[in-house]
Order: sequence, then structure tokens, then C-alpha cells
Amino acid sequence: MKRRIAILGSTGSIGTQALEVIAAHPDAFETEVLTANSNADLLIQQSIIHKPNAVVIVDERKYSFVKEALSAEPIKVYAGYEAISQLMEMDSIDMVLTAMVGFSGLKPTLAAIKNKKHIALANKETLVVAGDLVTKMAKENNVQLLPVDSEHSAIFQCLLGEQHNPIEKIILTASGGPFRGMKTNDLQKITKNQALKHPNWTMGAKITIDSATLMNKGLEMIEAKWLFDLRPDQIDVIVHPQSIIHSIVQFVDGSMKAQMGLPDMKLPIQIALAHPYRLYSDFPRFDFLKYPSLTFEPADENTFTCLGLARKAMIRGGNMPCILNAANEIAVAAFLKNEVRFLEIGELIEQCMDEINFIAHPTLDDYCLTDAQTREWLIDNLRVKNS
Ligand code: NDP
Ligand code: MG
Repeated sequence: MKRRIAILGSTGSIGTQALEVIAAHPDAFETEVLTANSNADLLIQQSIIHKPNAVVIVDERKYSFVKEALSAEPIKVYAGYEAISQLMEMDSIDMVLTAMVGFSGLKPTLAAIKNKKHIALANKETLVVAGDLVTKMAKENNVQLLPVDSEHSAIFQCLLGEQHNPIEKIILTASGGPFRGMKTNDLQKITKNQALKHPNWTMGAKITIDSATLMNKGLEMIEAKWLFDLRPDQIDVIVHPQSIIHSIVQFVDGSMKAQMGLPDMKLPIQIALAHPYRLYSDFPRFDFLKYPSLTFEPADENTFTCLGLARKAMIRGGNMPCILNAANEIAVAAFLKNEVRFLEIGELIEQCMDEINFIAHPTLDDYCLTDAQTREWLIDNLRVKNS
């Protein structure tokens, strides 16, 4: 039986790589749904090649363009953000790959879980914002949350066969990003183009900036807390510039298991989509002799303040990670428009964490409200600052 996949965010970095994985395994997978925010051209092109049953273009102004372009195909075309969640009711979807970016992934992921679809989870922000609700709902609906993020895929693979063997801690590896080794002074004049150049991975713009500030690793700590049911003090971060070891689990007997390979997101995508099976892939193999030295160094939380802020938010819990995430999304978007400096990203997030009302046990409505309030507060502040 082929696994029928819905890709939410098919036009992005993860989405396009997932389509490559699906195309390489026509006996294992079928494309059932594709969605894009506004990139109608690519959505149309993907639909003609991969022949999904239905597509969504979130930007409603592009609906007629997409509909017209696909009129010769037996593909249903929908528009608007809500349509993504509605399509999660389709019986013909077996698995949903959440590859949208940011908070926008939360509602469609919850809709997919409610409809008992297994989740290949790339959209880490969903777990950062509302990890308690998402993991609880997944348990209630007997839905698997299969990590796509390379570090979490590594931990997941290390835990296979371990049943309930107790974990002492996990160590998430970080490449250190393009500014590894720099100090605050060096970061004063970082430009958008410098920050967009990641040494080891090619990714969407938002996560690339998150990798430069180390916020990505902060979000990943929170993602790991929920995926693997860990306490904050069980989650460590270590910088490993070669990105060969993707992460490590240390068990209570002191034994460590690590997962390694060349950095290529298609591998963790394929592992999540095919779980519990491993499929053949022709990705380049890692050769120890070509990498005689794998190195490790501490993460510098004093310089890369976003990592410390994320840890603080994880420990505080409640809606604090939701505030952190919303503030980060706005600050990164402003940085990408050259409206704030690189170092201001952390400063703005910290201000939001101080300003926005803390809620210890938030409901879904509280999370949505917190997200909206944080965005509004920060956008207003940036307007005043830039006027
Ligand atoms: P991209 O920016 O490349 O792609 C995002 C996708 O989501 C696009 O299809 C985009 O559509 C769509 N999208 C954006 N905003 C919205 C919205 N408001 N509503 C609906 N759809 C939207 O991101 P990435 O592929 O890099 O990342 C996707 C997720 O995966 C993120 O959460 C990221 O953290 C995570 N991830 C990514 C990795 C990577 O290597 N890229 C690695 C690990 C995790 P359009 O193209 O039309 O704008
Ligand atoms: Mg990662």
C-alpha cells in the first residue's frame, strides 16, 4: 500500500525536498495534497508533475490563476488559510508533512491530528508554541509525531529499540551558524546577506536567520522537550561545526548513542515519511577518512543571547515559548526588511518576554491571543522606533 502524503508548505525548502523523496520512491508514496502560501507558479508546476488530489493556495487573490492553470487536470483547487485545516478531513490522506513556516503551522497540525493523520513534523514552531496541547492531542488520537528536524530525527533513531530505557540527557548538535566564534562586537554590523549564508545547510530564510542567531537551537530544545518528554535540565547543546553527528542520547548507564551522516535534509524527511521502514537512497555516504577530525565546542550563550532566552522560556513554560516565538518571527521579518539590526533580534524578544502577560496554563485560545498580542506589541514598538 502506498502511503498518501499531504505536504503543507510544498513550495518551501523542506516541501520541495520532500517531493524529491516521493518522486524517488513511487512504489512507497503518493502525493495527495500540496499547499503554498503565495508561490502560485511553483505550486502549479508541482501539481502538474506530482498530480495531487487537491491543492491549496493560501493567497486568495491567486485562486483563479491556479484554478485556470490546472483546469485540464483532475485536481481540486482551494484558497485561503482555513482550507488547509478543512482538507485534513480527507480520508485519502495517510500522513501529513508539516513544512509550513512559523505559527501558521499550528492550526493545520492540530486539524490533522484531530483527524488521526500521522504527522511528519518539520514545523518546529508548532511544538514551541503549544507543545503541551499538541502532544496531548496526539496521544489521545493515537497519532505519531515523527520528527523531520535532523537533530530530532537523530534522537528518534537513537531511541528505536530502547523501549522505556531511561534517558539521562540528550545533546543537540549545532553547526554554530555563519558567525561561530564571533563576539558581540563583531556582530554589530552583520548584514542580512551575511546572515543568510549558512555554512552547511540550504534552508528557508526564516530558519536560516534563526540558525545565525542560534534561536534555531533554542527552538529545537523546546521541540525536543515535547517530542521526547524531557525536563529542561536533560537537554544540552554542543557546537559541532561539521554537522556530521546530528545529535546524541546519553542513557542512565552512561552509554551514548549518536546518529551521523552527511548533512542532507532528504534523509530525515525520508525516514519520517517511511517510518518504520528504511528505504534505499543514493545520497552520498559519509567517509570517515575524508573527515579526519570532528570537532566540538561549547555554545556561546553570552554572545548568542537568543539561545539563553529560549532556555529561559522553556524553563518558565506556560505561554512564554509562544511569546518568544512570536517575537522572534516579527523580529526576524523586520531584520530581513533591514528594519532592525542583527543584535536587536534578541533585545526585542527579551522585551516581549518582559512585557506580555504570562499565563501558566494556557488554552489554545490563550496561545492564539498571546501570539497576536506579542506581534501587535512588537510591531507598534518598531513603528514608534522607526518613525
Ligand atoms: P520555507 O520558507 O522554505 O517554506 C515555507 C513553506 O510554507 C512554503 O511552502 C510557504 O509557501 C509556506 N508558507 C509560508 N507562510 C505560510 C502561511 N502563513 N500559511 C501557509 N503556508 C505558508 O521554509 P522551510 O522549508 O525552510 O521550513 C519549513 C519548516 O521546517 C519551518 O518550521 C522550519 O523551521 C522547519 N525546518 C526546516 C529545515 C530546512 O532545512 N529548511 C530543517 C529543519 C526544520 P510560499 O512558498 O508560497 O511562501
Ligand atoms: Mg535542525
